[in-house]
Amino acid sequence: MSIYTSFKCKCGREFVLLSEEVQSMKGYLVCPYCSGRGVKKEKATNSLKECMSARAYIRVNGYLRQK
Ligand SMILES: [Zn+2]
Repeated sequence: MSIYTSFKCKCGREFVLLSEEVQSMKGYLVCPYCSGRGVKKEKATNSLKECMSARAYIRVNGYLRQK
């Protein structure tokens, strides 16, 4: 099971969420940048580094979260 899931928004920004957070937010997932709902799932990964290489970072409920 993948720990992180990365998303891309219509506004062009990418962000990463913990997969368990995504589950609890299902149906209510919005972009942390523009609060829009045009969010598309990109990929799931176990490697935060892999996510970071996509210039994304974890941001859950408005605060930054380290691994
Ligand atoms: Zn957005």
